[in-house]
Amino acid sequence: MIDLRSDTVTKPTPAMRHAMATCEVGDDVYQEDPTVNRLEERAAAIVGKEAALFVPTGTMGNTIAMKVHTHHGQEVICDARSHVMNWELAMMAWFTGCMPRTIATTDGILTWDRIRAELKPVGPHWAPTGMIEIENTHNMGGGAVYPLEVIDEICDGAHNAGLRVHMDGARVFNAAASCGAPVSRIVERVDTVMFCLSKGLGAPVGSMVAGTRNDIDQARLYRKRLGGGMRQAGVLAAAGLIALQDMPSRLGEDHANARLLAERLATLPGIAVDPGSVRSNIVIFEVSGTGMTAPEFTARLKEQGVLMGSFGDRHVRAVTHFDVPRDACESALEAVQRITAQ
Ligand SMILES: *Cc1c(COP(=O)(O)O)cnc(C)c1O
Repeated sequence: MIDLRSDTVTKPTPAMRHAMATCEVGDDVYQEDPTVNRLEERAAAIVGKEAALFVPTGTMGNTIAMKVHTHHGQEVICDARSHVMNWELAMMAWFTGCMPRTIATTDGILTWDRIRAELKPVGPHWAPTGMIEIENTHNMGGGAVYPLEVIDEICDGAHNAGLRVHMDGARVFNAAASCGAPVSRIVERVDTVMFCLSKGLGAPVGSMVAGTRNDIDQARLYRKRLGGGMRQAGVLAAAGLIALQDMPSRLGEDHANARLLAERLATLPGIAVDPGSVRSNIVIFEVSGTGMTAPEFTARLKEQGVLMGSFGDRHVRAVTHFDVPRDACESALEAVQRITAQ
């Protein structure tokens, strides 16, 4: 099977397996796991924040960050197709007690002008705005990448309004590979960032939340409340350290493969995609012109040994990653060609 459903399917590399087997561990709830401590220090240094926290999932990381920045009964401004809004089982409402105030966009990229129009003051009718959430790269926006100046403008505007900004940077290393700036520059003005070790970076489990020492101290308590206090988690952190060291520099290959997929898909009958909009490792294309629904399309593709994800009736997503090299992407394209020719 050629699995292009998500970059979450990446398996740990031999170097990760070795590090997992041989690392030093301790009880991380007592903050005595040297490997977790090393990962947290390393992650904080790479993203240029005071501190970082190892969490089991990106969903938990986003949930914790939103909790740190808000109080019950506030609004969180986010875009309408954001992960926190659509793919996290309403944890924003469940744990944080906030309502999403969504903004519709074409590619998931918000601007300060759009956000400013949605700010709510304290008043007799409104839930006041509690924070701003932005997603970089934007998953359902087809891997769209925030321009640096747009992030800076959002952060400056938010801070002037007394609000904080969390970046869901599940794939912020892909954003860095795409825009050519280090992650520390991308997240320079955001208050907290979450990123996943378990996607394109290839670690088996885990995400990081980074921010000020004070925010991360609080985040550690919320992690425990959510059941995320892990004990000898060094076996996971060891893979995360390898992920940070070895994997960011190869993400460009995944991006080139995604562009190849988009360029060739665009030439196939019934498929609509703009290859110019592919900025990272995600390709979302429309299949209604093939006469198949998206679930029918992916079912037929599966019979040909290729897995992709369907979203609604019309959209299919392919995500490139290091377990699917270029020749496998070419085989996947041949499979798509066969089913669209039928
Ligand atoms: C994958 C992802 C997350 C976190 O997902 P988990 O499966 O909980 O680790 C968060 N945001 C975005 C944009 C994602 O793609």
